[in-house]
Amino acid sequence: MQGIVHTILASAQQAGAVRVTNVQLELGVSGHFTEEAVRQYFQILTEHTAIEGATLTLSWLPAAYQCLSCQRRFESTSSAATCPQCGDVALEISHQDECSIRAIDVVLPDQ
Ligand SMILES: [Zn+2]
Repeated sequence: MQGIVHTILASAQQAGAVRVTNVQLELGVSGHFTEEAVRQYFQILTEHTAIEGATLTLSWLPAAYQCLSCQRRFESTSSAATCPQCGDVALEISHQDECSIRAIDVVLPDQ
């Protein structure tokens, strides 16, 4: 996440932007990575930078699950998924450990 913030700052600087107004991130779903935590972390990391106050748009990449009861495999963007077939608890079998920047909106200085 810290690396992401550095990357955003570097791209904004490269573009000659004075401020970043919106950041779109793509994240892999995983149990210990809640939206609330991401937003909080983002806010802390961007304090006193050109990104401070920017809106954060998150999109989640689904993780793969397998049901413990009926063995059905499915994908879900929820971190605690239940089987769509029998409603039982499913086990996460893989997720994408990814956090990438999809887009950033910046404000350029008046010409
Ligand atoms: Zn099931």
